[in-house]
Amino acid sequence: MKLPDSLLTELVKEVAGSDTIKVLDILRNKKNVSEFKIAEKLGLTVNQVRNMIYRMQEYNLVTFTRKKDKVKGWYIYYWSFDLPKATVLLVDRKGERVTSIKKELATIDTSRYYFCKLCRTKHNEEAALEIQFICEACGELLVEQDAQKRERELKKQLKKNEEDYALAKEALDYHRMLVARATDRRLAKEKAEKDAARKIARAKLAAEKAKLAPKKAVKKTTKKATKKKTKKAVKKKTAKKKPTKKAVKKPAKKKQVKKVTKKIAPAKKSPAKKKSILGRVFKKKR
Ligand SMILES: [Zn+2]
Repeated sequence: MKLPDSLLTELVKEVAGSDTIKVLDILRNKKNVSEFKIAEKLGLTVNQVRNMIYRMQEYNLVTFTRKKDKVKGWYIYYWSFDLPKATVLLVDRKGERVTSIKKELATIDTSRYYFCKLCRTKHNEEAALEIQFICEACGELLVEQDAQKRERELKKQLKKNEEDYALAKEALDYHRMLVARATDRRLAKEKAEKDAARKIARAKLAAEKAKLAPKKAVKKTTKKATKKKTKKAVKKKTAKKKPTKKAVKKPAKKKQVKKVTKKIAPAKKSPAKKKSILGRVFKKKR
């Protein structure tokens, strides 16, 4: 799952230059390293270090945070290696390389040919024989080029690049899976928090409503009776009847009932559940 260090080193060397490997080695297992610390470790000036880091930054291989030095007033930069971005770059580059090798292999002319090292001109066997293997432009002896050797070399390269690609892709997929999992966890947590907050808000509203409601009504109504009452009210609301005088007088109750209707309406298939929810809501109301 982890990207082989050798592939990472090869990538950084290729895109940012072999001197940046020293920086990579420092940032590989450590985050937010100050550029002064890097310079100190490498025995270089801060400007030399910045030069290397900027080359890495061009390929999004590093990220930074900065902090203002309270005494001197300037910013100090802290660098980290961006492994996910580097892995993406590696997958892209290896994929491109595989494609280009395959293309060359598909069109490679394995017939024997001869070419002039100086002029870079290429002749097939027949043409070379005609000029007696001597370049007409410069008089240099033509050399034989073995296309089969090139083909063998390409096949070897293809195998290596395909293996590298698979490793990089696996590392990238694994990383993405971890990110997705973390996101799911975060969303679930957020939802739970929201639900809890809504529950509290609802309970508060119910408590307020209970305060406002006339004491007589609360005392008189049994659990069963109120259940019926609420049901009736729900029906009334759903039918969109004109609000009665009573309802107008008690806006708090009206609001509550409306909410209940909304919540309950879709759960038509289980009347038992409906009842229990209504009962719960009402209990809270009190
Ligand atoms: Zn020549």
